[in-house]
Amino acid sequence: MGRLEVKVLDGTPPPASRMISPYLVVCGDTGEAVMIDSGSKTSAGLLADQVRSEGVTLKAIILTHIHLDHGGGAGSLYRMLGSVERVYVHPRGEKHLVDPSKLWKASKSFLGPYADYFGKPEPLPPEAVKPAGDGEEIEFCGGRFRVIHTPGHASHHMSILLEGEGVLFTGDSAGVSVVDEDGVTRVEVPTNPPPFKPLLYYESLLKMMRVGGFDRVALGHYGFAPEGRSYLERHAREIIDWFRAAYEAYRGGATDAFRLAEALARALEQAKRGLRAKSPLVREFFYMGAVYGLLDAAQRGEQLPAVAQV
Ligand SMILES: [Zn+2]
Repeated sequence: MGRLEVKVLDGTPPPASRMISPYLVVCGDTGEAVMIDSGSKTSAGLLADQVRSEGVTLKAIILTHIHLDHGGGAGSLYRMLGSVERVYVHPRGEKHLVDPSKLWKASKSFLGPYADYFGKPEPLPPEAVKPAGDGEEIEFCGGRFRVIHTPGHASHHMSILLEGEGVLFTGDSAGVSVVDEDGVTRVEVPTNPPPFKPLLYYESLLKMMRVGGFDRVALGHYGFAPEGRSYLERHAREIIDWFRAAYEAYRGGATDAFRLAEALARALEQAKRGLRAKSPLVREFFYMGAVYGLLDAAQRGEQLPAVAQV
């Protein structure tokens, strides 16, 4: 059995690129592969081509969560490739993969035009969908994938540790770190659309660090974090600055998304980069998504981690 190889795929629907990264874990000599996340319905054709060009048989998909940009393409890939035996998901996401109608309705109302950009997910047959419990080990073609439930971004979020290879797939549990359309500016913003739970999110970061066993962090947006494991520690520190800045601005009168977006951009360099990003996806979907989530958390009086209390 040869070593496993982890490849970054581009699951960004055109015309954007390099913003959404599913991963292909190619299992040595077996010719088989496992995919972490599936991109969206509208990127499934591109991803199916990338899998075919690797010359591998895709046997399983493990989803970090069911949001349209991570789990939305699973049904289409299942149908297009014809080789996928199992799609693993957090138990709370299971029913939405079999019947995506409620998820689609909720996504339409929250994401507006971005719901259509990602597309309406195709349903999966119930026998293909497998719920994955916290701590569960999924074994496929020589790879051991450990499931770590990491709620906060969403109640149905889980991260995946590829054991022995030292790769942690964080989905949306550890922020966005992407390069803007200018090809140079790195933009790093939180991943927290409403209903956002700051305390759970922070505890999930600590949980991943406690589990350990990784030296590479594979982000949902986009690719491997440049500095490896220490990215997670840095993100845990920086998210506290975002929480503080958002709650302070909210108490200071930034009580709508527009004012909060501006206030954060004055307080934090990365928020400024988010607000001014050239890429509409970064500006409107990532940055404003984070702003809406922080606003919603402040409005609901969501508890912050003790280290963030002001
Ligand atoms: Zn995402």
